[in-house]
This record gives sequence, C-alpha cells and structure tokens, in this order.
Amino acid sequence: MKLTFAPFELHLKHRFTIAKFSRTSTPLMLLQLEHEGQIGYGEASMVPYMGESVQSAAAFLNKVDVSQFKMPFDYAAIISYLDNIEPGNPAIKAAIDIALHDLEGKLLNKPCWRLLGSRAENMPVTSYTIGIDTPEIFRQKVEEAAGYNAIKIKLGSADDKQLIEIVRSVTTVPLYVDANQGWTDREGSLDLVYWLHEQGVQLIEQPMLKTDPDSNAWLTERSPITILGDESVQRLSDVDKVNGVYHGINIKLMKSAGMYEAKRMIDRARELNMKVLIGCMSETSCATLAAAALAPQCDWADLDGPLLTSNNPFAMPPFENGKWILSDSAGLGLVQ
Ligand code: MG
Repeated sequence: MKLTFAPFELHLKHRFTIAKFSRTSTPLMLLQLEHEGQIGYGEASMVPYMGESVQSAAAFLNKVDVSQFKMPFDYAAIISYLDNIEPGNPAIKAAIDIALHDLEGKLLNKPCWRLLGSRAENMPVTSYTIGIDTPEIFRQKVEEAAGYNAIKIKLGSADDKQLIEIVRSVTTVPLYVDANQGWTDREGSLDLVYWLHEQGVQLIEQPMLKTDPDSNAWLTERSPITILGDESVQRLSDVDKVNGVYHGINIKLMKSAGMYEAKRMIDRARELNMKVLIGCMSETSCATLAAAALAPQCDWADLDGPLLTSNNPFAMPPFENGKWILSDSAGLGLVQ
C-alpha cells in the first residue's frame, strides 16, 4: 500500500463569520492510498480554531506506517494505532480513515454507505448554512439559498432576531440555529429559544460554552426545541459525557477521526436515546460523500461544504430536492 498526500487551500464563496471567528479559506490535506491498482481518497479539513494545520498533518502522516493496514481493514485496530502515534489530530486521522473506507469499497466493489449499513432512501435534506453578516448581505445570501430545503443560521451577534426575521421574510423552510457557544445568560437564552420556536426553528447547536455543561443542561431541560452539543462532542468517549446535557449531538468526521468512529457514535447516541445531526467543516466532495454515507442513519444532515466553496477539486456529487444522492459506485462514489 502506498500513501501520498498534498496540501490544498479550499476557498469559500463568502467570508464566513461565526460567533468567534471569521475566514475566507480553509487549509486541507488531500491524500491517496493506493493498493492493488485501486486508489482510496481521503481529506482532512483543518479549520484553524481546531488546532491542526498542514504542518501538523504532514508531520503526523510521516509517522504513519501504511504496512499496518491489511485487508480486510480492522478499523478498531487502525484507530488505536493512530491514537498511539499521537493523541488529538482528528482531522488527519479522519483523512486516513476516509481513504481506507474508499479503498475498501473499491476493492470489494461496494459503496461505502452499504458497507456502513445505511439505506439510501433515508437520506435527510442537507441544510445550507448562512454565516453572520450585515443585514443587506445576509438577505442576499438567504435569497441565494432558495432551492435548499433547510437553512442553518449562525447566531451569536446582537442582531440575532433581526437575522431570523430576514430569513422568515424570504422563506418558510425549516431553520436550524447554531449559537457556537455565543449565549451567556440562562433566562435571556430561554426567552430567545421560545421566540425561535415560534419562528419554526427545529434545532439549536451549542448554545452556551462547552465548558459550562450546567447551563447547557438547564436550557436543554426547558427548551421546546432540540438542543445539540457540537463543540462539546468530539469523539466516541464524549457521547456518554454529554448525555443529559443536550438532547443530541452534532457528529463531524473531522472531530470523530473518521467514519468508523462516527458510526459508533451514532450507534451509542441511539442507545442513549439521543438525536444525531451529521455536520461538516469546509470540505470538498470527498469528506462530504464520506459523511453522506452515514447521513441516512442520522436525524438531520448539515453537509453543505461543497455548496459553500468555490474551488472543489472533485466533481460535485448529485444533489436533488435538497439531498445528496448516494450512488451505487464503489467506495465513496467520488468523481474526479
Ligand atoms: Mg456547530
């Protein structure tokens, strides 16, 4: 088996602002695993606030001995091997895991979503995310989002209500809200939750600081809207920790170290009766198809990475009626 990798700068169509950060592009590491004439593709998306970089990813990959990866792939052993090289680094671990899944699917001539037990007909709609912006530009972005069957809005500015009102003046589609830990006051947050409920908001991500489980749990207990932990939940071991703090979790492959652990997180959340959203970072078709392979097992999907970027190096996967369409192609179904 042969591993090759190269950095790639993924550009966003719009400057993207959330409660604490703003950026116009995202560094990626794209990698390929070659075995018996087949190539598996993987991707790490390293948004700066998560702490990984092209340099840390390259340094990590240089420590990986691909002779550890034997068919059929023992993902539990592989993840444990990668975690023993160095803790953290979930995005570059995800890139390896995604490439292995793509490769395995191609070697077995099966789509990844079938290997993971998904039913293509259960694919949820994907929300289209709109970042914090001036009211004029925000309105323009909402109008551009016609054609998507759900909208996700980043909140945490002083104009939260105004932004929602702009959305509601344009469209009646379901709304998801992400506060990115931006809310501070319990009672004020609960008032806002009730108001958001009247506006047709279906879920709220990470209302308060991830370091304040008590306030998040207080809000969850009283909220008529589903509250999900995102920044609080990275890997499998976190799922049990946030049980009772949120109604559910936002899983992202770049946090979970890939598809294998994401699948286990879904299964564990279901055992605990928790809801599941599968989300993404700024990603190309590669990591998006990897997440889409698991999306039919989740309640909601927020896999808009390729819709928000301008230089995706892969073909755009089929997208109809607001949903990614899973193909019967082997592996991820990625087209160059
Ligand atoms: Mg989020």
